[in-house]
Amino acid sequence: MPIYEYQAEQKGCEHCRQVFEIMQSFSDAELTECPKCGCAVRRIFSIPGRPGRNIMSNSSLAEKGFTKYKKRSDGRYTRECGPGPEI
Ligand SMILES: [Zn+2]
Repeated sequence: MPIYEYQAEQKGCEHCRQVFEIMQSFSDAELTECPKCGCAVRRIFSIPGRPGRNIMSNSSLAEKGFTKYKKRSDGRYTRECGPGPEI
């Protein structure tokens, strides 16, 4: 399973003030809240100096011709990157 890195949008707690990692399957929803304090977090795609971490980034996926879709709350998919159709 891929490991995603998140960081608090604003203040956050000891856990999310700095970048933290969480293992999620591709089908899991993107984390939006810190599991400890519940404040808003955002996902970080590119971590400099860590080779191999950027394989799943939108730009590298698009380069390889993949289309990445994100599942919305209504169950439909919207395109995040790549050459495929919008939905
Ligand atoms: Zn937190």
